[in-house]
Amino acid sequence: MSQFWSPGVRELTPYVPGEQPADQVIKLNTNENPYAPAPGVGKVLRDYATSHLRLYPDPASTALCQALAKTYEVPDDSVFVGNGSDEILAFAFQAFFRHGAPLDVPDITYSFYPVYARLYDIELRQHPLNAQWEVDLDALASAGDRSGIVFANPNAPTGHAHTLAALETLLRRVTDRVVLVDEAYVDFGAESAAPLTERYPNLLVIGTFSKSRSLAGIRLGYAIGSPELIEGLEHIKDSFNSYPVDRLAERAGIAALEDTEHFHACRDSVIATRERTRTRLEALGFHVLPSEANFLFAKHATLDGGQLFAGLRKRGILVRHFDKAGLSNFLRISIGTDDEMDTLIETLEVLCG
Ligand code: PMP
Repeated sequence: MSQFWSPGVRELTPYVPGEQPADQVIKLNTNENPYAPAPGVGKVLRDYATSHLRLYPDPASTALCQALAKTYEVPDDSVFVGNGSDEILAFAFQAFFRHGAPLDVPDITYSFYPVYARLYDIELRQHPLNAQWEVDLDALASAGDRSGIVFANPNAPTGHAHTLAALETLLRRVTDRVVLVDEAYVDFGAESAAPLTERYPNLLVIGTFSKSRSLAGIRLGYAIGSPELIEGLEHIKDSFNSYPVDRLAERAGIAALEDTEHFHACRDSVIATRERTRTRLEALGFHVLPSEANFLFAKHATLDGGQLFAGLRKRGILVRHFDKAGLSNFLRISIGTDDEMDTLIETLEVLCG
């Protein structure tokens, strides 16, 4: 604690992402895409790096917002972009959830939500998952006076996704505060709620280029919502940095959105590998939760999750292990290439005896 820090900084518990190791490991711990981004991304980066970087970016990111609006079939003024969906989540927490009442979230969810709640002095009301490890939408909707609702669909780290019909049931019940649906993993088998934003002005959908578009290194995310919500986000952004994303990110994002063939091919490969991996993990004695994401959440019938994590790590395979009550026997395994998953299974065969 330094005398220069503002009060309360010491108590903050920053989010710690999965470790970023040297190259020789198989990295299945931060849900990145194992495939390269669309080939057009490389071309655009080369062209732009030489010709356009002396200029400031477009403060409205018009071209990227238009490309996203076209992709999701929503009006142009329903789109906001930022430096990764984490940044947009931070803006949303500031813009919409400081009403002095609790924010409703699932108790097992993306671990950044509690970090932002703490940072912006927002009280959290955490709701346990149901017996099937699914986000309990009914409990979220039933809670009393609130500043808003936030959850991920599919949920992280469990992988289950609700249908749009289930989300609509919640949206019909909660109309007075923002319902934020984080769709970081939606492209791997779930359905985006973006089209619902035209009917529900309090629905904010947040997405990312980090997962299904293979651009985690660029830091590019987006939000889709009614113009009044987008304006709220712009109020925060403009007070912070009036340039939303840099020129390279904007061009890379557009190139990634344009190549639908590459997008579908990578997505289908990840889904096929996920289901093959599930079968093989089950054969090894793991209980694997259903997943519509690019990861599996699995626990072994008898072996300790922490020891399996350490055993894999020692052999150069990184997966995610959460040292949290109720979760400590689970491993979250990102879906890599088929070769990487073969090595994972062969290593687990040794560890599981
Ligand atoms: N939401 C969820 C549920 C995530 O798991 C992640 C990635 N860790 C993010 C948002 C953030 O994604 P990014 O900032 O890379 O867009």
